[in-house]
Amino acid sequence: MATQLQLAKTGTITGEITFVAETEGVDAELVRTELAAGRLIIPANKLHLKTNPSASLRTSLKPIGIGRALTTKVNANIGTSSIRSSVEAEIEKMEAALAAGADAIMDLSTGANLDDTREQLLARCPTPFGTVPIYQVIEGRDVEDIDNKIILEIIERQAKQGVDFFTIHAGVLKEHLSLLEKRIAGIVSRGGALLAKWMLYHNKQNPLYEMFDDLCGILAEYDVSFSLGDGLRPGCIADATDDAQIAELKTLGELTQKAQQKGCQVMVEGPGHIPFDQIQYNMEIQQKICHGAPFYVLGPVVTDIAPGYDHITSAIGGTAAAFYGASFLCYVTPREHLGLPNADDVRVGVIAAKIAAHAADIARGLKGAAEKDKSLSVARANLDWKTHLAESLDPQTAERMHIEACEQIPVEKLPSADYCTMCGRNWCSVRINKEIREAMKNK
Ligand code: SF4
Repeated sequence: MATQLQLAKTGTITGEITFVAETEGVDAELVRTELAAGRLIIPANKLHLKTNPSASLRTSLKPIGIGRALTTKVNANIGTSSIRSSVEAEIEKMEAALAAGADAIMDLSTGANLDDTREQLLARCPTPFGTVPIYQVIEGRDVEDIDNKIILEIIERQAKQGVDFFTIHAGVLKEHLSLLEKRIAGIVSRGGALLAKWMLYHNKQNPLYEMFDDLCGILAEYDVSFSLGDGLRPGCIADATDDAQIAELKTLGELTQKAQQKGCQVMVEGPGHIPFDQIQYNMEIQQKICHGAPFYVLGPVVTDIAPGYDHITSAIGGTAAAFYGASFLCYVTPREHLGLPNADDVRVGVIAAKIAAHAADIARGLKGAAEKDKSLSVARANLDWKTHLAESLDPQTAERMHIEACEQIPVEKLPSADYCTMCGRNWCSVRINKEIREAMKNK
């Protein structure tokens, strides 16, 4: 069975292409041509799709497209850690992320029972589901002991479970490690750091790079998309856009073409921590080096000094990234750099990333984006509280805040109130404007 990419190249409009086009309100032929050109992917493991008769999962995938021709998508990372591990807590976080509008979920678990955790999450996940298989390769053994056989076995096992995209850190090469000397934060990617340790111990090349052809074979068989990992992404503002980051990006560009030639869908991961003025350059150089493959960025975080507020620092960077070239934003929660997030951190992180993505979609003139704002603004101008709150990105929070404020000073109940506690009735410019408009109409 061919992959989405191979089928698109033959001119076939698959059911998944049609579904994505209808969801986005664009022409199916546009989705097909972008997919065939490698500028768009539909991460959809054949075993996560209902259309596949051998699909074993209880919840089938609703495919999404990731690429510049479509709306900017948002990913939420969840997963157990080696010292805090509860499947129930991760299910709760995934449900919070999906309810807040996450377009994709990544399970970054490193705790106990990884196969079972993944199975339980996947069984409930209707969106593309990603993992970083090298985590499981390392689980329960010393990093020095991993070999090619273990890596291939784990990757195939996860593909057979229905995972839709894999982060593969194949671009971190032995020769890149000497470029890290001047860094403050070193290697902050868990996969990148573990592979670097393996390379130094064995004095050999990255096994994921050496086995890349074999990996392409497995990923193509199940149509798992590559998310080519940025193992050398900068972990602080001072390290941004350095030689190590760019050297790895060049390798990722080569691997992008190699994987696409073998029928695999590819997106490329990017930083990380970038000062605001370097975001445009980072987006443009990735698009050039990686031949337009969708760029999936973590944040980017635009300052290091706001732990506790990194959903905000990343949303600032995320809007700029999505405006200049990224297609997929990985959320950052307020607890980033501080600890494992809880369900509320996840919810807040997703909302912040959704705001960033939507703000960029408005600015790049994407069809339908500004119309949502216009619709809410009309309701706001008409003091139509019901529509105003319902059409907001986070209706529950908006409604809760409004009601709380109303309760502080008894005002007229929703939906008839023609002012709020912010200015009071006599000072409510929205109400006065409404009266002016009506008076002018009557004249
Ligand atoms: S009272 Fe002030 S904040 Fe509230 S609706 Fe009127 S203008 Fe807006």
